[in-house]
Amino acid sequence: MFGISFSKVLLLVAVVAAIWFGFRWFQRWEKERRERSEREEEGSRLGRDASARSDDRQTEVMTACRICGTYVAQGARSCGRPRCPFPG
Ligand SMILES: [Zn+2]
Repeated sequence: MFGISFSKVLLLVAVVAAIWFGFRWFQRWEKERRERSEREEEGSRLGRDASARSDDRQTEVMTACRICGTYVAQGARSCGRPRCPFPG
C-alpha cells in the first residue's frame, strides 16, 4: 500500500516538475520573443524617424533664390545675377 502511494507521489512530483520547467521555459521563450519584437519595432520606428528627419533637413537647407527662382542649398554661392541674395 505504501509502495503504491509512494510511486504515485513520485509520479506527481515528476509531473509537477515537468509542468514547472515547461512553464519556466515557456515564460523565457515568451519574454525573448517579446523583447525581440520590441527591438524590431524600435528599429523600424527609428528608421522611419531617421528618414523623416533627413527629409526635413533636406527641405530646411534648400532655400529659394528670390531673383533667379531656383532652390539651392543654404550657403550656396550667388548665381551671378545682380541682387541675388546669396553671397557671391
Ligand atoms: Zn540667385
